[in-house]
Amino acid sequence: MWWHLHYAGRGGPASFAISAVDIALWDLKAKRAEQPLWRLLGGHDTNVLAYAGGIDLFFPLDKLLAQTQDNLDKGFKAIKMKVGRDNLSEDLERIAAMRDFLGTDFPLMVDANMRWRVDQAIRAAKAMSKYRPVWLEEPTIPDDPIGHGRIAQMGGLPIAAGENLHSLYEFRNLIAAGGVDFPEPDVSNCGGITVWMKVAHLAEANNLPITSHGVHDLHVHLLAAVSNKSYLEVHGFGLERFIANPMVLTETGHAVAPERPGHGVEFDWNGLSVYRA
Ligand SMILES: [Mg+2]
Repeated sequence: MWWHLHYAGRGGPASFAISAVDIALWDLKAKRAEQPLWRLLGGHDTNVLAYAGGIDLFFPLDKLLAQTQDNLDKGFKAIKMKVGRDNLSEDLERIAAMRDFLGTDFPLMVDANMRWRVDQAIRAAKAMSKYRPVWLEEPTIPDDPIGHGRIAQMGGLPIAAGENLHSLYEFRNLIAAGGVDFPEPDVSNCGGITVWMKVAHLAEANNLPITSHGVHDLHVHLLAAVSNKSYLEVHGFGLERFIANPMVLTETGHAVAPERPGHGVEFDWNGLSVYRA
């Protein structure tokens, strides 16, 4: 598929399509082997520490803290918030409030969704470092590996990035530029399970942990398969009600890779029936 789509592809929408086919083929392969995907792929450890990924950039402070309390009530032991408001002072006020609310050592990540130039990102990272986020995510555009390297070096915060990278080679370039501490491939757009696993091993060879973006019911398998796993992102899209066996968290805030054959994700057709056209 990569070669047949090479002229117009090499990433972008072609990678989304390749990912879908690749995921389906791996699911079939694991089902034929009567194995859960995580075991077929390496079978390292079924327990994966999860964090709640909020989409909250424009929430007023009270709503941000209410969402955070809700995530704590759900059992999350790590939380990510958005940054990148018009003024850095607003970001700092929000991070300070979250740090105060969560306590000194609670794992808190911040995600800028590419909103800054490199100089702005360096200034923001320096100012945020006293709140000790686990990482600063996507400080600038994914097309600038060298800029990521400067942010990582001069900003003083670990950098997470990768949800907008669509090939193994883009990860290679970002890692080679020293621009990422937590590579964050998304199995639904990087080329599927085949490429995700290669990125995880590339990260391992560079002494880096691996994390994931979205699609947590699939990613729990992939992180459970590799020894350099870090956090699983759990997105708050609320798709659980359409899935037959949605993920549950343990008391320690871990997601557990299931024993069902394949990726084990089935739709709840009853839950979906209200949308039947
Ligand atoms: Mg993100």
